[in-house]
Amino acid sequence: MDINLVEILKKNALNITAPRLNILALFYEHTGCLSHDDVLKALGGVIDRVTIYRTLRAFVRKEILFCIPTANNHLLYSLQKTGTPNHTPVRHAVFICKQCRRIYPMDSIDLDLKKMPGNFVIHHCSVVIKGKCKACQGFP
Ligand SMILES: [Zn+2]
Repeated sequence: MDINLVEILKKNALNITAPRLNILALFYEHTGCLSHDDVLKALGGVIDRVTIYRTLRAFVRKEILFCIPTANNHLLYSLQKTGTPNHTPVRHAVFICKQCRRIYPMDSIDLDLKKMPGNFVIHHCSVVIKGKCKACQGFP
């Protein structure tokens, strides 16, 4: 892995602890969205439930991760993309298949955010799109 996890924690004024490094590494390895339960499943033998919860909250507060609320009050976490130099807002979209419940990150989707009314300025935009994924429609 060419990402310096220690550096990310330092830059965000977070103490460097083994649970924080493990959870951060999991997100960089996974690249998609993870729920608290997914993290617990992957690291539960090493890190307890409360520590995972607190670490995820801390990462969201520091904008290392963002979270998207989905159905049933579940939260999904994913790595925060860094904003672009020309100050376009950070956009995150996920697609949730209503049939198989799989979650697909939609990085390439084009959300036109230029049409905000009045003097509103967007810093961050999270979108949850629901529908039927291509696999459930029989596409390869
Ligand atoms: Zn599906």
